[in-house]
Amino acid sequence: MLDFESVLIKHKFKYKKALGQNFIFDEGLLDEIAAAGGADGACVVEIGAGAGSLSRALAKRAKRLCSFEIDETLFPVLDETLAEFDNVQLFSNNVTELGIETVDMLIGEPYIVIANLPYYITTPLIFLFLRSELCGSITCLVQKEVAERICATDGGDFGALSASVQAVAEPKIVRKVKAWEFYPQPEVDSALIRIDKKSGAALSDELDAFFKKCFAAKRKTLVNNLTASGVDKASVLSALDAVGAGASARAEELGAAKLAELFEALRR
Ligand code: SAM
Repeated sequence: MLDFESVLIKHKFKYKKALGQNFIFDEGLLDEIAAAGGADGACVVEIGAGAGSLSRALAKRAKRLCSFEIDETLFPVLDETLAEFDNVQLFSNNVTELGIETVDMLIGEPYIVIANLPYYITTPLIFLFLRSELCGSITCLVQKEVAERICATDGGDFGALSASVQAVAEPKIVRKVKAWEFYPQPEVDSALIRIDKKSGAALSDELDAFFKKCFAAKRKTLVNNLTASGVDKASVLSALDAVGAGASARAEELGAAKLAELFEALRR
């Protein structure tokens, strides 16, 4: 087992809360994450290499690993911890600024994402890769509550985030991860989720914006929420009728697939 702590001390590394730096060093857990994401023989993209602990677990299984890390004080650490692998490429770009077309171009082949994500940009990162034409699945650690919202199919947790993910993918919680399994410990518990994209599906800006309008005021009916956003009432009523829903339906009663049908019905 590589002594990450000594390497971090040697390079005088200071943890930065603002960059979501909560690392994992438990080899069993790291290997479980790599296996659950399907790293074997795959082209894997990792966001946030950190000290390289998950990167190592991924590199052992993957055909190719492309790891992004923006904290340059970690580069000498990564040079050391990943030195023995010739299938790893490190990128210093911020993927949220690059945009998904550029990320896809850099990778240049079908890939999967496996990452212990920086939590301050979890949702934008998931949405970024849901828009990718090359990314097949996203396996990542997220805050437990976010995982529950992504996977909820009804009830209070089901909202725009659940609908956007479920319209183009199948999410599931693989396992819960306690705060003490990270260093330093975050204030929240986490969950490992795997989001498998439906074949040929990519989230569009229009569909994502439509779900946000549907859930703008949760207690209100779809008619109220959509007319408040500028859609005319007659069109909403006829689209609801076309998908077999009543005039008093609320977004959370319809589920992701029916809401996506409603979006299509309104475009016709
Ligand atoms: N993979 C490591 C592990 O599991 O121990 C580190 C995970 S840590 C939760 C998240 C990492 O993402 C940090 O190293 C942080 O510097 C990096 N990071 C933060 N914002 C980033 C961004 N926009 N692009 C790439 N990496 C980022």
